[in-house]
Amino acid sequence: MTGPVVGIDLGGTKILTRVLDPDNPADAVVDFRVDTPKGASGLVAALAGAVDEADRRLVAMGSSPVQAVGVGAAGLVDRAGVMRHAPNLSGLDEFALGDALRSATRRPVVIDNDATAATMAEWRLGAARGVDDMVLVALGTGIGAGFVAGGVLQRGAGGFAGEAGHMVVDPAGPPCPCGRRGCWERFASGNGLGRLARDAAAGGRADAVVAMAGGDPDQVRGEHVAAAAAAGDAEALAIVDDFAWWVALGASNLVAVLDSAMVVIAGGLVAMGDVLMEPVQRHFGDLLVSVDHRPAVPVVPAELGPEAGATGAWLAAGQLLADKR
Ligand SMILES: [Zn+2]
Repeated sequence: MTGPVVGIDLGGTKILTRVLDPDNPADAVVDFRVDTPKGASGLVAALAGAVDEADRRLVAMGSSPVQAVGVGAAGLVDRAGVMRHAPNLSGLDEFALGDALRSATRRPVVIDNDATAATMAEWRLGAARGVDDMVLVALGTGIGAGFVAGGVLQRGAGGFAGEAGHMVVDPAGPPCPCGRRGCWERFASGNGLGRLARDAAAGGRADAVVAMAGGDPDQVRGEHVAAAAAAGDAEALAIVDDFAWWVALGASNLVAVLDSAMVVIAGGLVAMGDVLMEPVQRHFGDLLVSVDHRPAVPVVPAELGPEAGATGAWLAAGQLLADKR
């Protein structure tokens, strides 16, 4: 039995549902977003409703209905599909999301962490096509990461691989909501960029950035730094350079452990383009251990954009269906 599968990206604010054309995965035959409701029961209903809507659209196109469901979810998901901890999804901690969706949709369901799903997508269809040892670093509100080693996507013993945002890079650093200090994502995420900029503003080193934020240093966020840096402001570029050093520090640590052949930088900040990528690449070259004695490790921007999580979930659902045959 073959047929279409659906990939769903379950984020803190939106649920993105996609069905891709297996012969041309750049082409989505179903692609829509709905708001993420609060609470487990509303969320299961919204996800099941998204699968029903995908069914309606597929059948209207003369296709068979959805055969399997893949979900990339913002949180710590274990291998059995239990959401262990989801700071951005209310009421989902310790919730058996996989079982609930299987019973609501009467279809096979696979659930991954959203960064793991994005890694699958960039490896199979995006920037790291054909690179069987790669690491993805997604710079968002926090940092998500994923790894492919020896041609196998690494999920870890419990499904929790890739929590690289909580590698401690400065034990005396700022406190993290996880309860520790100096986690990598305090410096190298979108929130980290805003914090570095507010520090610069407090020191009088970010006038144009503060102006972008309406003149209030406390309102400075990453997007204001990005806008001022894109306009060529020297102080904003210095903040981006500092930020890029932190991004490169964590990335070089990951490559030191994994001997990855490529680093893919994902997340909304990639839209900054070379303003961000050039200093990340430069600092990465300075920080990576034994850099003169190993093959070059390209640090490249992701190619699939904000749809990567849903695309990876679509790939995982297809794999689930293939494994069942
Ligand atoms: Zn932390």
